[in-house]
Amino acid sequence: MGTVFEIAAYDQTSQHALDAIEKAFQEIVRVDDLLSNYKTDSALSYLNSSAHFHAEKVPSDLYRVVEESLRFSRLSGGKFDISVAPLVDLWKAAIAGAGTPSLARQQAARDCVGYEKIELTPPDQITFHSACMQLDLGAIGKGYAVDRAAEVLQSSGIRNALINAGGSTILAIGSPPGQSAWLVHLRDPSRKVDPQVMLKDESVSTSEQTAPSLLGDDSPGHIIDPDTGRPLRTEFAVSVIAQTGTASDALSTASLVLGPEKGKVLLYRMAGVSAIWISPDAQMEVVTGGPQIVFGKGF
Ligand code: AMP
Ligand code: MG
Repeated sequence: MGTVFEIAAYDQTSQHALDAIEKAFQEIVRVDDLLSNYKTDSALSYLNSSAHFHAEKVPSDLYRVVEESLRFSRLSGGKFDISVAPLVDLWKAAIAGAGTPSLARQQAARDCVGYEKIELTPPDQITFHSACMQLDLGAIGKGYAVDRAAEVLQSSGIRNALINAGGSTILAIGSPPGQSAWLVHLRDPSRKVDPQVMLKDESVSTSEQTAPSLLGDDSPGHIIDPDTGRPLRTEFAVSVIAQTGTASDALSTASLVLGPEKGKVLLYRMAGVSAIWISPDAQMEVVTGGPQIVFGKGF
């Protein structure tokens, strides 16, 4: 997943905590082996090479993540869309120095995209109704991996732990000894606000476009607005708190693409969800359907 995962866990003996952490890391590796689009032998890579106009049987984790992704696509009116992969690849190449892709190449990639062209056949089959469809789980896979790791810790008897997927998704189980919850500082591009949240059996994820300072007309970026087929132009960073890592990860990406106005409408429809959009000039929008977001600095 191209991310460093960290796990902190408390238990009666440190050896038991270490054993549980080791099993949780193995679970993250297992999930990454399935969902990675960097690994050519992952279940996702196999699906991307074989499901065009053909029902492909997939492992249950992959089926679940795609099913959840389609739910968030519908909830966000298509702004969250795992089928943006061909556009993501095009604009990631631009980030790497390949230059702005031609309009013809952009259009060819756009023609491949559309979550409505992904068909799920329970219990375990997926069909692409597009000749060039490719899926990219970069916006939800880390959250899903964190959820599976949390399940492994809990079934090992761990009641107090924090799982951190490179800072982009952080899931809290219980609280540190003697405290009511885990204190997590949220991303603040303004450096003036220091938003914080007390997490307990909840997850927070943050999304932000690449190189926010360079948002010119042709600036590349890793987050795509499916409606334009181009990198999203926004200076906001958004953090979303939800009950699971899968939900916070998908909702943070969806909320960034939707923007605060439409994003708030979506998040207020979900139970127990909080969020904050912050710009480099400390413009803020907050949703408090879940835990309170507090501010460490005056502004
Ligand atoms: P995140 O950091 O969770 O917001 O996810 C960003 C990643 O999701 C990108 O690097 C792409 O792989 C993928 N992605 C980009 N745009 C979208 C989109 N509109 N919907 C779903 N996934 C996307
Ligand atoms: Mg995400």
